[in-house]
Amino acid sequence: MSSRRQFVTQSALLAFCSTLAHRTALATPDSAPGWSNWSGGQSCSNQALLYPQTEAELVSILKSTQGTVRAVGGGHSFSPLVPTRGTLISLEAMNGLISHDPKRLQATFHAGSRIAQVSSELSNVDQGLFNEADINVQSLAGALSTATHGTGRQLQCLSAYITAMKLITAEGDVLHCSRSEHAEVFQAARVSLGALGIVTEVTLQNRHSYALKEQIRVMPISEAMHYVDQNKDRFSHIEFMAFPFGDRAMVKTLAETQAPETPVTTPWIDENTLLEFAANTARKHPWSNSGLQHLLGMFVSDSTRVGPSWKIYPSTRAIRFNEMEYQLPAAVGMQACEEVMAAMRQHRLDVFFPLEFRYVAADDAWLSPFHDRDSVSISVHQYYRQDYHPIFAVIEPILRRHGGRPHWGKLNTLTGKDFQEIYPHWADFKRIQRQIDPHSRMLNRYLRQTFA
Ligand SMILES: Cc1cc2nc3c(=O)[nH]c(=O)nc-3n(C[C@H](O)[C@H](O)[C@H](O)COP(=O)(O)OP(=O)(O)OC[C@H]3O[C@@H](n4cnc5c(N)ncnc54)[C@H](O)[C@@H]3O)c2cc1C
Repeated sequence: MSSRRQFVTQSALLAFCSTLAHRTALATPDSAPGWSNWSGGQSCSNQALLYPQTEAELVSILKSTQGTVRAVGGGHSFSPLVPTRGTLISLEAMNGLISHDPKRLQATFHAGSRIAQVSSELSNVDQGLFNEADINVQSLAGALSTATHGTGRQLQCLSAYITAMKLITAEGDVLHCSRSEHAEVFQAARVSLGALGIVTEVTLQNRHSYALKEQIRVMPISEAMHYVDQNKDRFSHIEFMAFPFGDRAMVKTLAETQAPETPVTTPWIDENTLLEFAANTARKHPWSNSGLQHLLGMFVSDSTRVGPSWKIYPSTRAIRFNEMEYQLPAAVGMQACEEVMAAMRQHRLDVFFPLEFRYVAADDAWLSPFHDRDSVSISVHQYYRQDYHPIFAVIEPILRRHGGRPHWGKLNTLTGKDFQEIYPHWADFKRIQRQIDPHSRMLNRYLRQTFA
């Protein structure tokens, strides 16, 4: 699964294709333009799918439309956060760096910018994001709305680095928030699920730009778990992906370096093609799963590369899947991971995709799954052509039993009652949501049920 290559060009292409897809829909605004997410697991029809070019246009849309309004970013959430039968608004056209502060190392972006654009434009002004997720095609607002994260014991989710935001409410009012201005709204808006309003601008705390050395080591799973546990404080970023039926795992570490950038090399076989072939074969012939996982582990070998952080972070995920991910207290992470893999084997779950294990540091945003606790993130994936329900039904109770909170952008079966138990500020968030959006225009059916 891990990328060996820089796919920034590809990411830009993806963003462009996605823009084209949306714009095609916009060309026929009266014909209930459709939308679906990246995996194809969520879709909806809309009264309109609109692309404001300016904040004034956005305000005018909000004031002139009626019914439910939702913002859509890159469509990379698996959970039903986006769907509407009302108006979908994309800020795709409102992108780019607005200003930067070289002393404070802060920068303000239009919220429709994709992460790939954010990180590359930051590098032009000698700034870098503290951390990035596995992909960089999300929009900035979309990634922040779900507490998107990377890995690293000392590194927080992206929302934790927001210092200020501009929010346009469903009524079209403009609200600036930060720790000193509308402080409660700020605590809610940093991870908002798009439920408070449309975020148009975000200021991020960054650092000076930096280079990373990525190392991938392939080993048996128990060795990988031991290695990660022992070295979790040695590397700024560490994670592993395990194929439980083939007993192979890939440990990925990133460390800051002054070494020169390594030249980009082309592998003799594209790993995404290989993975798609293997996933399809395992789907059709479940008996071949463990053999294929083992074989795949042999194809992927240890490797090292060096480059600017924004080029090293992103992977390419060309093979579609659906995903469930929970954030657990860090202390129980390895134990829970053992249990998840044992359950996969015991139930002979028909899954080819690997389990992913990462670390995320605590923050204080009200709906951050990392609220007030250092966490590990455990995720399980299922090939998009296969039913994920049997797998997630076995794994989810294990992750919940260990105190897990689900990733907002990924599949889970929790209800408002469950969220109330696991989020100390659940009632505060609901209060702010009702205050800012008294007619619940910003809530789709899923969120209306969740916040009931
Ligand atoms: C292949 C793949 C890899 C992934 N890897 C990771 C990973 O490594 N780490 C991780 O944490 N997550 C990961 N994710 C999940 C992903 O980062 C989140 O679901 C993220 O929210 C997607 O961003 P998006 O721009 O696609 O937003 P969307 O999915 O389009 O929307 C997400 C939410 O943001 C809201 N939103 C969008 N724009 C605005 C706006 N302008 N104002 C207010 N609300 C807005 C939407 O209403 C919605 O509630 C991955 C997903 C995929 C498909």
